Amino acid sequence: MTTAYKIWDIPGGIHPEQYKTLSNASEIQPAVLPPEIILPLNQHIGAPAEVLVNVGDQVKTGQLIARNKGQISVGVHSSITGTVTAIESRPIPHPSGMPALCVVIERLAEEEILFLPPLNDWKSEPLEILLQRALDAGLAGMGGAGFPTHAKLNSRGNIHTLIVNAVECEPYITSDDRLMREKASEIVEGIEITRLITGAQKVLIGIEDNKPEAITALQTIIDRIPDKGIEIRVVPTKYPSGGEKQLIQLLTGQEVPSGSIPATLGIVMQNVGTIYALQQAIVLGKPLIERVVTVTGENCPNPGNRWIRLGTPMSFILEQVGVKADGPHQLIMGGPMMGFTVMDHQAPVIKTTNCLLLPEPKPEQPILPCIRCGMCEQACPVNLLPQQLYWNAKSHDWEKAELNSLFDCIECGACAWSCPSNIPLVQYYRFAKAEIKKERAETEKSDRARLRFEQRQERLAQEEAEKEAKRRARAEAAAKAQQAKQESDGDNAVNSDMKSEILASVARAKAKKQSQAEPSAVPPKPVLSTEQLKGKWETLQSKVETARTKLDAAKTENPEMVNALSTALGKLEEKAHQAKLAYQQAAEEENKPQ
Ligand code: SF4
Ligand code: SF4
Repeated sequence: MTTAYKIWDIPGGIHPEQYKTLSNASEIQPAVLPPEIILPLNQHIGAPAEVLVNVGDQVKTGQLIARNKGQISVGVHSSITGTVTAIESRPIPHPSGMPALCVVIERLAEEEILFLPPLNDWKSEPLEILLQRALDAGLAGMGGAGFPTHAKLNSRGNIHTLIVNAVECEPYITSDDRLMREKASEIVEGIEITRLITGAQKVLIGIEDNKPEAITALQTIIDRIPDKGIEIRVVPTKYPSGGEKQLIQLLTGQEVPSGSIPATLGIVMQNVGTIYALQQAIVLGKPLIERVVTVTGENCPNPGNRWIRLGTPMSFILEQVGVKADGPHQLIMGGPMMGFTVMDHQAPVIKTTNCLLLPEPKPEQPILPCIRCGMCEQACPVNLLPQQLYWNAKSHDWEKAELNSLFDCIECGACAWSCPSNIPLVQYYRFAKAEIKKERAETEKSDRARLRFEQRQERLAQEEAEKEAKRRARAEAAAKAQQAKQESDGDNAVNSDMKSEILASVARAKAKKQSQAEPSAVPPKPVLSTEQLKGKWETLQSKVETARTKLDAAKTENPEMVNALSTALGKLEEKAHQAKLAYQQAAEEENKPQ
């Protein structure tokens, strides 16, 4: 049983007609398989999946045909057994009406299943395995956003509260309602799995008070399990209570700051349909190949909920409910508030298709000038100024639109629903957001190009400076080598002189002896005096000292000169030695007793 709890309020909100009873009275119909499926590669927020198959390949039901490209991406599995007949651009359900790359598979009569291995004993599996399974099964948020489930669940450590979004506040849509009534046990198991993965201590299931059967079904299962950390929180029926930030505010009283995500408050939210898909992926190994879709509206002859294999063309479903595919009718994917018109009915059902709405044709409402009544402001659940945003968008004043928190707008449509002038306000906001994003992308692109250019210029300047430094070093080295050579040549000349002087000195001594023994008529060759020889020796010794000093300095400042200077020093030392010998010999000769 539920206990007393507090439900907070949100600003604004509206109470449109519900139209839920059109489709919520009967059980979910089983899937009828189409002859061909069309699987877009981008059924989620993030990078499109990467194709793994080729035309002509045979694939089984549940087989991975395109893998995730990065972490914000999920793979795509074949939802039937068949042959790949094309990998090409096809119409997809998107507000832009633009086509996208799809894998087209023609069904074979015999169905062969290729699921992942079941993880029945999931409580004892490592958390990484459970998280990986969410990725391997191609799970993406099924409430409409399509954010990759594994990426959202991978915030363990920061999360204390798991909120299960079972509000389903859009008029007409009842797919979650029927799923909870019929699969309550699987959903509660899915909640326990999600709780284990996220590490949340507390689970709050937010559900509107217009789903009493679903509330009873869930509560019955919750009462049977020993874990009492799961609580149902019934909120009043009001649109858009199912918005992520709005439901957090309703259940906890906390506001997720602008530009922030619930994880910053320690909260993670999962749609009830996604939680069911996770349970199927873990316990049965079943990838995301089908979902419940509400097919409804005043223009739908046979409204109700159906299991639909992903990739089933919408035209095939319209036929199943008795609508002529070429009939003059409007087809909306999603609800009347946040849905969009599907331009080509060959577009397939994808992971985020919760409703196909065939509304009553309404007479065109004339768009009148804004009368500044303020109704839109009163309806806004985010406390924005829709009227101001409208003027900003209309005058292409993107700067002011951003200042007026355009990007906090959740495009719920409550303002447009309230507007007596029938102004399609949300269309203006979507256009403004798209233009701002385009401008940002262009600015980022040119910033990146400028940065690349500046980095290149810097690199070239650095390379030039390095080359110049090397050139200078080479020139200095050459100059020093030249100087060393010159010094060496000069010293060699001195050395040669010294040898001559020594020889002359020896000759002089011999001649002196000879002249003393037998006087000659030939005068002796002029030679350096002992005093001059001493001067030569001292000069060379001084050069030796200078050379040593230079060599010591070169060892730290100019290593490439060390060899040349060592050689020059060796030679100088030799010369000084020779000069010393010459001087000593001359002095000896001079001092010999006559
Ligand atoms: S509700 Fe419509 S008419 Fe009234 S202020 Fe807003 S935009 Fe203008
Ligand atoms: S569509 Fe945006 S501006 Fe309008 S009510 Fe919703 S949140 Fe406010």
